[in-house]
Amino acid sequence: MGFLAGKRALIVGLATERSIAHGIAQAMRREGADLAFTYLERLKDRVVDLAGELGSKITMPMNVETDEEITRAFGDLRKHWDGVDIIVHSVAFAPREALAGGFVDSTSRDSFRVAHEISSYSLTALAREGRALMAGRNGALLTLSYLGAVRSIPAYNVMGLAKASLEANVRFLAADLGPSGIRVNGISAGPIKTLSAAGIAGFRKMLAHVAHTAPLRRNVTLEDVGNAAAFLCSDLAAGITGEILYVDAGYSTVGMSFGEETAGE
Ligand code: NAD
Repeated sequence: MGFLAGKRALIVGLATERSIAHGIAQAMRREGADLAFTYLERLKDRVVDLAGELGSKITMPMNVETDEEITRAFGDLRKHWDGVDIIVHSVAFAPREALAGGFVDSTSRDSFRVAHEISSYSLTALAREGRALMAGRNGALLTLSYLGAVRSIPAYNVMGLAKASLEANVRFLAADLGPSGIRVNGISAGPIKTLSAAGIAGFRKMLAHVAHTAPLRRNVTLEDVGNAAAFLCSDLAAGITGEILYVDAGYSTVGMSFGEETAGE
C-alpha cells in the first residue's frame, strides 16, 4: 500500500506531460492518492486526457486570475469530494517580454502586477477556498518555487521577485493554517524543460550550467520533484511546515565549482 493511500489531492497547474504538476501527479497516484485537476480553458482537452491516464475523471476549469473562477472550481470539486487532503499549486506566469533582457528595462508595472498575482497571490486564494475542505484531515498545501527567489538569475527578472513573495506566502500561510492542522511547504526545483521554462531567455544555458556545476552533475527530473512532493504532502512529513525544500541536485549549496576538474588542478 502506498504512503498516500486514502488521500485526495487537487492538482493545480497541469498543462502537458512535461509539467512539474504531471511528475507530482504520477508520484502521488503511484503512492495511492486519488486525484482531481484544474485546467486553463485552452488546455482542457489535453488535461482531461492526462487526468484520465492518471485514473481521474475530476477536472474543472480554473484561471487563478479571478476570485470568481477559483470559488467556482472549489464549488465544482465539492460535488465530487467532501474533503481534500492535498492541494498542489504549480502555477506561475509572467509576460514573455519580462523574462528576457535586463531586469530594469524589462520590468513594467503591469508585468510586475501580473507575475505577482498569478504566481504568488493565487496561493493565498487557493488556501482561502481550500482550508474548509482541508481542516481536520492533516491537510497539506504545496507550491513550486525557484532559486531566483533568493539569488539573482539572468533573465528570470520579475519572476524572481514573485517567487520571493511566494516563499514568504508559504511561511505566513503555515503560521495561519498550522493551528487548523494544515501544513504549507514549497519545493524549490532545479531547472526542468517545461512549457513555462521555454519562455525564459537562455533556459538551455541554465540547464547546461547546472549539469556542469551541481554536486550531482546533472539536472533534476520530474520524478525527483514528484517524489519529494509526494513525501512532503504525506503523513511521513507530518512535522514539516513553512519549509522550502531544495530539489536541485545540490546546485544551491555550491559556492564555487570547477565542474569536472577537482580543486588544485
Ligand atoms: P508548466 O507550463 O507545465 O506549468 C505552468 C502551469 O501554470 C500551467 O499548467 C498553466 O496552465 C498554469 N497557469 C499559468 N497561468 C495560469 C492562470 N492564470 N490560472 C491557472 N493556471 C495558470 O511549467 P512548470 O515548469 O511545470 O511550472 C510549474 C511551476 O513550477 C511554476 O510555479 C514554475 O515557476 C515552477 N518551477 C519550474 C521550474 C522549471 O525549471 N520548469 C523550476 C522551478 C520551479
